[in-house]
Amino acid sequence: MSPGAAVGDPRCVFCDIAARRAPSHIVYEDAATLAFLDIFPFTRGHLLVVPKRHGARLTDIPFDDQMALIRTLDELCRRVERLTPDYNLALNAGANAGQVVFHVHFHIIPRYGESNPFRTARRPPLAESDAKALVAELSAP
Ligand code: AMP
Ligand code: ZN
Repeated sequence: MSPGAAVGDPRCVFCDIAARRAPSHIVYEDAATLAFLDIFPFTRGHLLVVPKRHGARLTDIPFDDQMALIRTLDELCRRVERLTPDYNLALNAGANAGQVVFHVHFHIIPRYGESNPFRTARRPPLAESDAKALVAELSAP
């Protein structure tokens, strides 16, 4: 796939950005991935890293695209460190997780000392009985 080409969904804003049908502030592009500034940034330098190929979530895209995303994340995390050494890397999968754009994307959110949304006020400790159930559920391949 050449830069600028996208395998996409015509109703998807990130496919539109990949195909240059919608405006964006692109900071990185290769054959399979794109990184651009979030239009409603949590902090200065908030980036989105996406595959050009459309898929709603990470498990919807081919392994090669997943690997390409990780390579691009590595590159962009290094570049974000030009702004600050601290950042959150996040992926929201599904509406209950806060996903509003259903084209898989990682957020890289630079942190400069503002309050961190991943630190909630109340986090009860893991219950032993639930830990057993979860290990049974999640350790099977
Ligand atoms: P999520 O909640 O993980 O689906 O995040 C979607 C993100 O996409 C939000 O942070 C939005 O601010 C961002 N966003 C939506 N539309 C655009 C756009 N046209 N250009 C850049 N970022 C966008
Ligand atoms: Zn898309």
